[in-house]
Amino acid sequence: MSYKVIKFGGSNLQSANDFGRCAEIVRKYDVPCIIVVSAFFEVTDHLKHAALEASDSGNFPEIFIDEFSEACFEQIRANIEDDISVRQAESEVRVLLDKLAHLFRGIHAIKELPPTIYDSILSFGERISAVILNAVIRSKGLETSLSLPEQFGLITDGEFGAASILLKESSKKIRGHFKRNQYYVVPGFYGISEEGKITLLGRGGSDYSAAALAGLLNADSLDIWKDVNGFQTGDPKTVNDPRTIKYLSYNEAAELSYFGARILHPRTVEPLQPKNIPVRIFNIASSSDSPDTVISSDPCKDLPAPKSITFSRHFSVLKLKGPGVGIKPGVLAQVAGIMDTAGVNISSVFTSQTAICFLLQGSDLAKAGEAIKSEAPSMISEVEAISDIALVALVGEGITKKRGVAARAFQAVASENINVEIIAAGASTAAVYFVVKEDDCDRAVKATHSYFFSEHLHQDSYQHSGLTSVVL
Ligand code: ASP
Ligand code: MG
Repeated sequence: MSYKVIKFGGSNLQSANDFGRCAEIVRKYDVPCIIVVSAFFEVTDHLKHAALEASDSGNFPEIFIDEFSEACFEQIRANIEDDISVRQAESEVRVLLDKLAHLFRGIHAIKELPPTIYDSILSFGERISAVILNAVIRSKGLETSLSLPEQFGLITDGEFGAASILLKESSKKIRGHFKRNQYYVVPGFYGISEEGKITLLGRGGSDYSAAALAGLLNADSLDIWKDVNGFQTGDPKTVNDPRTIKYLSYNEAAELSYFGARILHPRTVEPLQPKNIPVRIFNIASSSDSPDTVISSDPCKDLPAPKSITFSRHFSVLKLKGPGVGIKPGVLAQVAGIMDTAGVNISSVFTSQTAICFLLQGSDLAKAGEAIKSEAPSMISEVEAISDIALVALVGEGITKKRGVAARAFQAVASENINVEIIAAGASTAAVYFVVKEDDCDRAVKATHSYFFSEHLHQDSYQHSGLTSVVL
């Protein structure tokens, strides 16, 4: 059977008629179709705060539960017409709301929030959205059923909060489950460990759920619906006049997502790339039926690099100094091991003869600094912690082989009098990045974007005039 997988995000589920609008989009697809859905807009954040508050300060989140229940019932009433279907949907949602309240009562009583309960609580945003969307699609006379990751076996490695999907283990039951010619609605954002525990796939993880399903079912495409025009040459809130990028390779999409573009979960392309399943990104607010961005296996090598400039704040650098640290065998492995034991994820590493620099999340800097100070190898004579760093990345296939790209970026940044702290290229053929002080980030991004993409400046081989005019 040939499947399509569709994903609706939280930004598609904000106001009164949004579930109905999603159901109308679904109707236009051929069955069989698997629809992966996120929580309503911002609900995951509310669930998180309510859970933390119930366990930390002992406040039972009664107001949150009441408001969330009311929002669910409003969505049902706004999008389903006949009374019997409304009552059926309400009772399905009530079962879940009762289970959620039960979990809150548990953590309120024990004043603790074990990771397994935290992950379960946060999964309720998606579970409830899926029940409502399924009910709305059903009320339109379409054949549909709710399918849960625990039923079809979306198996993860069991890491709470940021699990990886185990594709081989997940492939066992899945084909047997989705075998009817109908719609299936699936809650995104979580899978199930081999011990049967709910494990979240990291924030924004519904994209990753949908991609895994598309890969496992050899789908024709993964269609992701959003409320923006796909990937752009720069963040519309930061740069002037960004353009939509029609085509991206899997590597470009992965690098852009890793370096801060908040369009896709960074792991979305992983299950799709080996099977060459395209990702098509649509804007729900657009009147056009064609996708804004299509991600596939490098469909247009001849487009100029970079294709997009992205950035990510809240980084830090831990600099370990000492004579010869960069060339003495084993030092890097030793310090990386110390970071690992301390639970610090290293985003990047740069070495020289006399220093090793680790690029870390800002929130990990203190923890990493303490671990290194107490256990560092003797040749490290000084540890410097630099906070409030931002990373600016230029992304485009082949960018590291294009002469002059980095030089141009630095010219742009220098013209704004901004100091570049570190530059890095080579880890991926599709990204070059540099690090600046967080306060300089916006100006650095604006300057670099206008240098490469402005109509009026630098009309050279980096001009992107072809990007939006490519026809599917
Ligand atoms: N609702 C989850 C989050 O906000 C997952 C998702 O949106 O994909 O992170
Ligand atoms: Mg999301």
